[in-house]
This record gives sequence, C-alpha cells and structure tokens, in this order.
Amino acid sequence: MDKNTSKKQNAYISEEEKTLNWEEVQLSFKKTFGSEVYNSWLQKISLMKEYNDYLILGVPTRFFRDWIVSRYLDKILAKVKEFKLSLNRIEFKIIEEKQNQEFIKINELNKVTEIKDSILNYNRLNPNLNFENFVQGKSNDIALSYSKKVCEHIARYNPLYICGGVGLGKTHLLNAIGLELQSENNVMYISAERFMYHFIKSIKKNDMVNFKDFFRKSSVFIIDDIQFISGKESLQEEFFHTFNSLIEKGSQIIISSDRAPMKLDRVQDRIKSRLAGGLVVDIDTPDIDLKIKILKKKIEEVQNQFKENISLSEEVISFIASESKTNIRELIGVLNRVIAFSRVHNRILNINDCKSILKDVFNQIRVITVDKIQNVVSNYFNIALSEMLSQRRSRPLARPRQIAMYLAKKMTTRSLPEIGRRFANRDHTTVIHAVKTITRLSEQDDEMKKNISQIKSLLLEQ
Ligand code: ADP
Ligand code: MG
Repeated sequence: MDKNTSKKQNAYISEEEKTLNWEEVQLSFKKTFGSEVYNSWLQKISLMKEYNDYLILGVPTRFFRDWIVSRYLDKILAKVKEFKLSLNRIEFKIIEEKQNQEFIKINELNKVTEIKDSILNYNRLNPNLNFENFVQGKSNDIALSYSKKVCEHIARYNPLYICGGVGLGKTHLLNAIGLELQSENNVMYISAERFMYHFIKSIKKNDMVNFKDFFRKSSVFIIDDIQFISGKESLQEEFFHTFNSLIEKGSQIIISSDRAPMKLDRVQDRIKSRLAGGLVVDIDTPDIDLKIKILKKKIEEVQNQFKENISLSEEVISFIASESKTNIRELIGVLNRVIAFSRVHNRILNINDCKSILKDVFNQIRVITVDKIQNVVSNYFNIALSEMLSQRRSRPLARPRQIAMYLAKKMTTRSLPEIGRRFANRDHTTVIHAVKTITRLSEQDDEMKKNISQIKSLLLEQ
C-alpha cells in the first residue's frame, strides 16, 4: 500500500497522544488495590497505546483479561481518569511475551497493519454478546425474533430499527446480529458517536472521499444509538446519503435508538421517515420472570468462566430481581456485587446480606460527582466532553460549561477551587462567575430554567 493510502486510512483512528506516565499510574494501582492484587494482576498490565479518549492495555492471557474486566475494570478506568480526564474506555490486547516483540516489529515495519488493527478494535464486535446468551422474555421477544430473521433474510426488513431505554439489551442484540452475519458479509458495526468522530476527522483532513467509501462498502451496516445525531446537521446530511446508498445496493441496515424514529429530537424529517420505513421493534423493561432468568444465566456463566461454585438461593435471586427496578445493566451490576461479597465472606448469603449490599449499591448509584455532571451536561447539549472542558469561549460551549460548574457547586460538596481544577484547571473566580451567571439566567430565562431542571432530573435518575 502506498504512503498516500495509508495516510488516508489514518483518518479513521484517534490521534495517538502520550501524556500518561504509566509507572505513576501503576504506583497508584498498588496503593488503591493493595500489594496482593497488584502483584498478582495489575502489575502485569502494560500500556500499549494511548489515545485522547482510550487506552490499549496489554495483558498476558485471555483468562487474565476476563478476570481483570470482570473485577477491576471500573476501578481501573476511574483511576486512570484521575490522571487523564478525557479517557472513557479501555481496550485490552492479549500479548504473550514473544508476540509482544512481534507486535512491535509489525508496527514498525508496516503501519497499515496497525491502522487496520485500530479500526478493528473500535468497530470490533464483542463475542460475548451473542444470541446464545441473550435471554428471551416478554419484553424483548419481538425484537429478538426479528433480529434473528434479519440474519436469515438479509434486506427483507430494511432498516431494522430497535428502540428501547438504557440497559435493556439493544447493543447486545446488534452485536449478536453482527456476529451471526460476519462470516459471510462485510459487517460494519459502529456507534453513531464514533461515526461522527470519523466524519469530523475526515472533514479536517479533507478526506471525505475515503470516508464515504469506507462506510458504503459494507453489506451489513449496524449503527448503535442513532439518537446521537440529534441537532448535528452536517452529520445527518452525511448519514442520509450513506443510508440511501447502502439501501440502494441492497445492504442490510440495523439501527438502535433510545426512542422511536418519529420521536427523535432535532433530526431531519426525511431521515426520520427513512428510519421508520423498514421494521421498528421495541424492547420494554423486563418483567420479574425475565430478570430471574437472566440472573440464573449470568450465574451459570460466571461459574463456567471461573470454575467456581456460586450458591445463591432461589429466595435471594428473586429478591435481587424484584429490587432492581430500572434495567438489565443495573441488575447485572447488582449481581456482581453480591457475588463479590459472597466471595470475600466465603459463605452463602441470606436476604439480609443482600439488603445491605443493595442499600450500598443504590446509595452509590445516587452519588453525584463532578465527572457525572460533566458527562450528563455534555451529553444533554450534544457536545464532546473535551470541547466542553476546552478553553474555547464560543457560547455553545461556554454556556454548558457554566451550567456544569453551577451544578457541580449546587449538587456536590466540592469547593470552588476544586471544581475549577476539575474544569481543565480553571480559577475559582471563573466558577463563581459561572454560578452567578446561571443563577441569574435560571431566574430570568424559561429555556434555561427548563434545561437546568431536566439535567437535574437526569442526574438524579441515573
Ligand atoms: P442497551 O444497549 O440497550 O443500553 P445493552 O445491550 O448494553 O443495553 O445491555 C446491558 C447489559 O445487559 C449487557 O451486559 C447485556 O449483555 C445485558 N442484557 C440485556 N438484555 C439481556 C438479555 N435479554 N439477556 C442477557 N443479557 C442481557
Ligand atoms: Mg447500548
């Protein structure tokens, strides 16, 4: 491949960015997790690549990776975020000692391999989210059965549009479809957010031709969380054309969203009607039967994976299922805590144990942090977190930034200087100014009043 082409492909990956001192991060792991966990696990993690918003970490084996992911991933991410706020995900790569050497060599010799690898990493399907471990219930029955039908008859239901609230299994289904179809099709799986990222990159690099080719050559195009395109005109324009050209050549399109097509906010009508023009199926909140079935399935998976016996009584399982009200992601989170607790205490748990664990979980969930405020506010206004924290002063960025500072002051116990520091090291006087401005605006301006109250309820809901 000539230099030119490889440069173009570069448009689809993050710029590398090196600011982390991995030794320092490792030291903080040791402090946080204790030497035992550190010596047997975390010490063996190496930093392979660092990008603005994610890291690729090297681990020695698949088992090692699964263990780290199931037990420590959240904490590791929280820890590295303390060093670099813009990080929002971690990828793992399995590297045996020898392969490690090889990997570096390949990269040096042939940059293209590395680029392809990165695209794969981004758009990679998660092999654990397949049809086999998707549990069927009343609330997801129709979505599941059409997801399977799409795999049998490409382009019969086009697009297939799956909608439903957070944590109800949309991404899981999209993944399962991708896995099923990938051996015989050119499957492209991407979140709307990543799609936008590549889009902007290509515009900046003046490389739209390659962008168009890249996404239009797929025969199965899966796009997750399409609601993200809300309010983004040029992205919608591009999506519209990609959509049409894919449909025209008979590619299957599968889309997920948190709401029905016609309910999408600030999305062009012609797009809404295209999205609604195939088959729309929704996933509802799970009933107790489904929750119990999912818990049992997950327990079985953990037992098989870690070869350990997890004994939770029927009573305890029903209790967890009935207490966890919002979504399946939370349900699994609660189960993981219960399992962790029973491991530590090495005994069979009763309902009272569960009650106290759940109390902790729900209390923790409700804790509002500056991080969370920043995330919710930037999502609410559809701007990138990094932009909201940047030094740019244009109003579409400055207002949300001020709102986030205001909420940080009102809803957390952080001091003004602390809040300033969390906003890319701003001075506390900037925070005072933001608090005053937003207080005044929220008294005078109905739009502002509405925004603040909606953001507050988003924060309290999560
Ligand atoms: P969404 O994309 O709708 O927010 P996800 O697909 O990420 O939700 O699902 C959240 C979590 O719940 C994932 O771990 C997923 O595997 C699990 N999950 C959701 N529905 C089911 C199901 N029916 N059976 C098994 N696991 C499920
Ligand atoms: Mg999802």
